[in-house]
Amino acid sequence: MSQEFSDLVKETKTLLKSLQASGIKELPAGSSIAESGTSSLSLAEKEKIIAPIRAEALKCVKCKLCKTRKSVVFSDGSLEADLVFVGEGPGRDEDKQGVPFVGRAGELLTKIIEAMKLKREEVYICNVVKCRPPENRPPEPDEIAACSGYLQAQLLTIRPKVICALGRTAASALLETEAPMSALRGKTLEWKGIPLIVTYHPAYLLRNPAAKKDVWADMQIVLRILAGK
Ligand code: SF4
Repeated sequence: MSQEFSDLVKETKTLLKSLQASGIKELPAGSSIAESGTSSLSLAEKEKIIAPIRAEALKCVKCKLCKTRKSVVFSDGSLEADLVFVGEGPGRDEDKQGVPFVGRAGELLTKIIEAMKLKREEVYICNVVKCRPPENRPPEPDEIAACSGYLQAQLLTIRPKVICALGRTAASALLETEAPMSALRGKTLEWKGIPLIVTYHPAYLLRNPAAKKDVWADMQIVLRILAGK
């Protein structure tokens, strides 16, 4: 078995597990994912995979956050994105509108994206948990675990050139580490073969504007990866 084929089989198995964890019992009719893996999927194929996962999430009651949410905040942006931002969880504005990163922190994230000479609609934005934790507390481990199938399915379907984890909760959830931000920032890490950069959450920047220069330095690493350097 060639290395490439064995990687493909591994990747497909991981995605199938994620789908199962998200409550998806079978692949949508006509999906070629089992045969082709995810790397070379067309937009239409990606949409075909994500649509039932999103539909499942929108009615999800797998953790206690379903009791207090107004909306399930699944994602914003393009399934063809080269760059995916992963945040912690929806806040009050996001819960109200059903869209991630639309409050003050969201406006700052949009500014960061635009400063990178990208458009918000060109990237993909999602969170570790899709429902708002009460009082904006960090999501708890059981909530992160219950929701992880959706996030994994999103990332494996899109397979971007680079993932940017916004804040420690997102970094810890993806990397399964308790390491502090100081040990995670400023370097290229990896999630299932995809380069992963950790930076501060925009909400942290609103409280600590001095850290903006650190985020900008992290975005330079993201831009280098996007440029293939
Ligand atoms: S946070 Fe995730 S696992 Fe929990 S109810 Fe919402 S969608 Fe389901």
